[in-house]
Amino acid sequence: MSTLNKENNKQKDIRLRLAPSPTGFLHIGNLRTALFTYLLSKKWGGKFILRIEDTDQKRIVPGASEKLIEILKIMGLEFDEGPHLGGDYGPYIQSQRQEIYQQYAQQLLESGQAYRCFCSSERLQEMRSAQEAKHQAPRYDGLCRQLDSAQAEQRAQAGEKFVLRQKMSQKGKITVNDELRGAISFQLADLDDQVLIKSNGLPTYQFANVIDDHLMKISHVTRGDEWLPSYPKNILLYQAFNWTPPKFIHFPLILNKVGGGKLSKRQGDVFVEDYLHQGYLPEALINFSVLLGWHPKDDQELWSLAELETKFSITGLGTSPAIFDTDKLDYFNAYYLRQKPLPELVQLCQPYLEKAGRKIQDEVKIEKFITLAQDRLKKLSDIVEATSFLFELPSYPLELLLWKKLTPDETIDNLQRIEEKLKEITEENWTREYLQTNILDWLKTNGYQNGDYLWPLRVALSGQKNSPSPFDLAWALGKAETLQRLQQVKFTKS
Ligand code: GLU
Repeated sequence: MSTLNKENNKQKDIRLRLAPSPTGFLHIGNLRTALFTYLLSKKWGGKFILRIEDTDQKRIVPGASEKLIEILKIMGLEFDEGPHLGGDYGPYIQSQRQEIYQQYAQQLLESGQAYRCFCSSERLQEMRSAQEAKHQAPRYDGLCRQLDSAQAEQRAQAGEKFVLRQKMSQKGKITVNDELRGAISFQLADLDDQVLIKSNGLPTYQFANVIDDHLMKISHVTRGDEWLPSYPKNILLYQAFNWTPPKFIHFPLILNKVGGGKLSKRQGDVFVEDYLHQGYLPEALINFSVLLGWHPKDDQELWSLAELETKFSITGLGTSPAIFDTDKLDYFNAYYLRQKPLPELVQLCQPYLEKAGRKIQDEVKIEKFITLAQDRLKKLSDIVEATSFLFELPSYPLELLLWKKLTPDETIDNLQRIEEKLKEITEENWTREYLQTNILDWLKTNGYQNGDYLWPLRVALSGQKNSPSPFDLAWALGKAETLQRLQQVKFTKS
């Protein structure tokens, strides 16, 4: 049965895994892989499994696995099995599975499908340089393939260092099937005798990955298409063991918007942690990431995780590279920030304000400030800048108060008049609506031009050219602060 037919067919044996190497922060590309994998497991009614691939000891960053689990949990992606949860197919950390790899390596050695290679790194280096000089692809020349196995055994026993290589056939081609791309053929002559066990006794990614996917009964291998070159090598290992391989789905590459290269740290932030710190919401990151390579029916743009869990589908997955467009991320984040209920938004903003030294004494006032800023936020950290003029009146050029042809003296007169008017409004009536209707009525009754009064009022209250309406400002600042800011106008009448 093909993967596509399984779409509507909940299967008990669907098992998908995320197999990260704990080498640092969570890259946005890994979040996308985690998300697609999670969603396919949900859609097909299967299991979502975490396996930590830590065989490359040099690259391990302590704490990275725990952080990854924590971040994915914040994103709403929870595993069914993994090192932190256990399960029937553990251990889920490769460094704890060494005996298993040794056992399978031994099996290939005994059946003659793998051999010990004693070539020194100097010899391999020389070989590589010579190949480069002749513009040939770097590959192992097969010297140790010929070794007599009894002799090789003796050298190993004597303590000579070796790696274990797979004896690959070198003629013809191998055709593999990717669920998104269909059949792909590779020339066997282009594939090296791959190393399975390194000289330190640890397995390579290629080897451990296949052994574990098989033993953990993974039904679909889901990963980024940078792993496509590994695919034929994986299949050759499945063949060596006579195992049925899982299905493979390689997700499209993610490219930078500028320059079009592969998404990398050099082009700016690519780590999920960084985005979270800046105040991007998990729901925005999920919505943004799911569209990196997935093309939903009718081009629906807004997606919640809950809706994706039932509607995500492999049929919408493309193979052409996705473009990483941070403007789009800002757009989604601004959207989800606008949707946030005020009390929740206040809670989310508070750490940013506190960090910026904004003391939160008057809860009601803070809520008002955040209300005024809500529609202008792209990310939570913007709250500091967006409310700064409310906490503290910035100094501003006095000319900013002047509306069209109004002179400084006229401006001061107008501000004094409106100040007197505002003084009459009681604390009880100090609402956005009342301030607006009352002041507009007063302007109209007296035959005053709105701009002649409202522009200087807005500047006097905000110190800014662009700001919320003067009624909103007066409401958020409160009566006392509003009158005080009007007093602060430094014009002196000539
Ligand atoms: N350990 C690999 C990685 O870090 C896993 C690739 C795979 O899923 O097979 O991406």
